[in-house]
Amino acid sequence: MTIRTVGFVGLGMMGSRMAPQISGAGWPVHVFDINGEAAEAVARAHNNIFVEESPKAVAEAAEAVITMLPAGPDVHTAALGPDGLAQGFSEGDVLIDMSSSQPWMTLELAEALKVRGIGMIEAPVSGGIEGAEAGTLTLMIGGDDELVERCMPILEPMAGHVFRTGKSGSGHALKTLNNMLSALNTMAAAEILLIGTRFGLDPEVMVDVINQSTGMNSAMQRNMKQQVISRKFSGGFAWDLKFKDFGIAVDLAKRTETSVPLSALAFQLSQAATTWMGDTTDKRSIEIVRWMEHMAGTEIRKPG
Ligand code: NAD
Repeated sequence: MTIRTVGFVGLGMMGSRMAPQISGAGWPVHVFDINGEAAEAVARAHNNIFVEESPKAVAEAAEAVITMLPAGPDVHTAALGPDGLAQGFSEGDVLIDMSSSQPWMTLELAEALKVRGIGMIEAPVSGGIEGAEAGTLTLMIGGDDELVERCMPILEPMAGHVFRTGKSGSGHALKTLNNMLSALNTMAAAEILLIGTRFGLDPEVMVDVINQSTGMNSAMQRNMKQQVISRKFSGGFAWDLKFKDFGIAVDLAKRTETSVPLSALAFQLSQAATTWMGDTTDKRSIEIVRWMEHMAGTEIRKPG
C-alpha cells in the first residue's frame, strides 16, 4: 500500500530540516510540536506542510507518522499519551521513530501498537544538522521487512546512506553504540593531546601525525584542530543529547550483561563533566574536552 500522506512530530533542530525534505518530494506533511511556534515556523517557510493541534490530529491526517523527539519516553508520550498518535491512527498505519530512542522502549511501543493493528519501524540517523539540511543522513533501519519497504519512498528524500540493521530495536541499539564510541573517541583523543601538550609537543603536529597513523579516530579528524586547538568550542552535537545516548548505551550494556569497564568509567567521568558544565542551555558535546583540560590543569593549545 502506497503511503500518500505523512505526519511529522518533533520539529526541533533535526525535524525542522527533515520534514521539508519529504514535503519537497511531493508528500503533504502534517506536523505537530509541543512548541507550537517551532511547527508554525516550518509551515511558514515551506509549502505542503500543515500544522495540527495534537499528535492524534496528525495521525488522523496521515498514513505514516515520523517522530523526531529527544528520546524514547517522549515518543511514548506522543504515541500513547493523551491525544496521542494511537488515538488517531487507523488500522494499517505506521509509526517511524527516527529519534535516538532506547531500544527496549522501541520494542515495548512496537508491541503496544501491534495489538491495535499499527505497524512500527525505527530509522534513527547520523549526519547531524548538516545531513538533515542536505537530505544526506545515514539511516539505521530496524523492523519488519515489508513495513520498511513500504516506508522507503518517504525515507529516501532524507537519506544519503541507508542500512538495514535487522529486527525492531536494532537500529536504535546501533545508533546508541555509535554515539558511545564517538564519546570515547573524543575523550581518548583529548587525553593523548593533554599528555603531549604537557610534554611540549605542538598539538597540531600531533593531530597531523596521528591522522596518518593508527591512532586516528573521528575526533582527531573532525574536532581537535577545528574545535579545541582553535579554541572555538562551538557547533556540533548538543552535549545533553550525546550524554543521553551514552547513558542509553551503558544501560544497554547492563541489560545485555556485558562487562564494559572502560565505557562505564568514561560515562561516570561524563556525569562529573555534566555537573561541572552547569545548567547552560547551549552546551556542545566538545565541552567535555574543556572539562578534561580543567582536570589536567592544561589547555590544548599551540605552544608559544
Ligand atoms: P531538539 O531538542 O532540537 O528537538 C526535539 C523537538 O521535539 C523540540 O522541538 C521539542 O519541542 C519537541 N518535543 C519534545 N517532546 C515532544 C512531544 N511529546 N510531542 C511533540 N513534540 C515534542 O532535538 P534534535 O536535535 O532535533 O534531535 C532529535 C533526535 O535526533 C534526538 O533523539 C537526537 O538524539 C537525535 N539526533 C540529533 C542529532 C543532532 O545533530 N541534533 C543528530 C543525530 C540524531
